[in-house]
Amino acid sequence: MADRRPLIAANWKMHKTPDEAFRDASSIVEMTQQAVKTVDILIAPSFVCLERTAKALSGSGVALGSQNMHWEAYGAYTGEVSASMILACGCTFVILGHSERRQYFGETDKGVNLKTLAAVEAGLVPVVCVGESLKEREKGETFNVLDRQVQEGLKNVPFKPDRLPVLAYEPIWAIGTGLTATPEQAQQAHEHIRAGLEQICGKTLANSVRILYGGSVKPANIGQLMQMPDIDGALVGGASLEPADFASLANFGQ
Ligand code: PEP
Repeated sequence: MADRRPLIAANWKMHKTPDEAFRDASSIVEMTQQAVKTVDILIAPSFVCLERTAKALSGSGVALGSQNMHWEAYGAYTGEVSASMILACGCTFVILGHSERRQYFGETDKGVNLKTLAAVEAGLVPVVCVGESLKEREKGETFNVLDRQVQEGLKNVPFKPDRLPVLAYEPIWAIGTGLTATPEQAQQAHEHIRAGLEQICGKTLANSVRILYGGSVKPANIGQLMQMPDIDGALVGGASLEPADFASLANFGQ
């Protein structure tokens, strides 16, 4: 099995002011000084908090990411930000195609693909989110949904060994609901996603791509999830808002 460095990512969604983000990111840095040596840690605050969060993370080894971006470089796109803007704020990662973006803001696989292409071109690492709804799972469509989202989202995306895209498997029914996929359910989906990636980029690169699990990850369940062979980290919403909880997730292996 390829040696994949774990990635534990915080998605702060629409929470925290710039001052609160600075305070909480500083606490996380303080509490993860050991973990950063072996685990990649990422914080994705809202756009308005990027600059202050970057200051808190400076020199720490904890990475900064954005929760979204537009695919165009600039232009008349009210309310949007571009890759160069988030790069200038210190981002190295960008979360794309989160189910909340798909569900509430009409994001499509095509849009996710355009954003992913633009992110990689700009030198950002995209964290591309995929996952089925409860209805789709109950109808036995989970793998079809994942195949479509992965194939369309990553269409023509170059797999550069030093900047491989990250995938996040986030079953929609487990996001913010307190329901977590069992480690076995998550592993099954991750294994399927990796097999699909193999068709796209070949076995070696597919084995190097990190696949995160997201959906009510908490200090109490991260240990079991991380024991699964194809789970390479976590994308965390609710439990990332409290610095001590997020730090304990990042410290899962300590
Ligand atoms: C998420 O929003 O990506 C997420 C997984 O949220 P939560 O951890 O709250 O389920």
